[in-house]
Amino acid sequence: MSVRVVLATHNRGKAQEFQELLGREVPGLEIVTYEGPEPVEDGTSFEENALIKARAAASHTGLPALADDSGICVDVMGGAPGIFSALWSGTHGDAQANIRLLLAQLADIRDEDRTAHFTATLALVVPGGEPTLVQGVWPGRIAREPRGEHGHGYDPIFLPDGHDRTAAELTLQEKNAESHRARALAAIVPALRELG
Ligand code: IMP
Repeated sequence: MSVRVVLATHNRGKAQEFQELLGREVPGLEIVTYEGPEPVEDGTSFEENALIKARAAASHTGLPALADDSGICVDVMGGAPGIFSALWSGTHGDAQANIRLLLAQLADIRDEDRTAHFTATLALVVPGGEPTLVQGVWPGRIAREPRGEHGHGYDPIFLPDGHDRTAAELTLQEKNAESHRARALAAIVPALRELG
């Protein structure tokens, strides 16, 4: 079987990561990056934003399209930063400023109330078909200060359940064994196998 799926990202690193993780599970799968116009991500949920991106890539290329949307949700903040995770401090992708602001907002919150989770939603849109949505969740807590050099985004302040190290202190292999993204990718495998 050979099946080509366009990934709604211009990020080649992400495409490689998806190819590696999904290619193992779905023989013949070829992930290609999307080169077309980027839609406005104006959804109000992870699901809506993932669908907006996957629909745009599917309709532009005519291929089955996969898109992901992810973020960190803090319970005591009602699930924020949520879909605003990447630009929480006002500048898109400034991870250090995002971390500083979140830590300041949680300064008076006790350890037991600092529960949070990373979430990743994947949308698979096949032209002319029903979309498939799956979610992966990684529960944990927000640390008091950043630690660790690995990973990206909020990893230095996220203490996954079952670890006393932050996500940025885990090796990439350890993170990939249990992260929200790994869980979402595992959940989308059956739908990708059906494309073949
Ligand atoms: P995107 O959906 O890949 O654009 O991710 C949105 C934002 O969520 C990122 O910019 C990060 O701030 C945060 N995020 C998502 N996944 C992770 C993760 O695995 N580690 C740390 N931060 C993450």
